[in-house]
Amino acid sequence: MSEKIVRRADAAYGWEDVERLAYKEAGGAAFRDITRQILFDDAPGASQWRYFEIAPGGHSSLERHEHVHAVMVLRGRGRCLVGDAVHTLAERDLVRVPPRTWHQFRADPDAPLGFLCLVPSERDRPQLPDSDERARLARNPALAAFLADDGAA
Ligand code: MN
Repeated sequence: MSEKIVRRADAAYGWEDVERLAYKEAGGAAFRDITRQILFDDAPGASQWRYFEIAPGGHSSLERHEHVHAVMVLRGRGRCLVGDAVHTLAERDLVRVPPRTWHQFRADPDAPLGFLCLVPSERDRPQLPDSDERARLARNPALAAFLADDGAA
């Protein structure tokens, strides 16, 4: 975007001329009820700012990759799995996802979860857990209930 100012749109958590995109092009049951908006495609430090919004009860994919995420919650409530712990999330909370660390975001059943996520413009593709890895994660008592919420995924 070349404009210096992009106004918020009237619709909740939208911006003028910013398209609401699918979360990912593919992935099937690995995620549910989540949209993506690219706010800055060419931010300083060769980075990209995105705004993701997960509808109540939805979730992002469980994944890991080399690049780091810097996340700020803007709207709603939920939880995130990062590494070997699950954390509750509220507006303005900050989350750092380190390299090669399993992570997943989930909205509470009765609230959306909207967050800014800063990433490098050049980044590796996310890796999803295979069934062995998923079973290994689910054996961790701290993660089991969060992962069991996943339904078909
Ligand atoms: Mn990720």
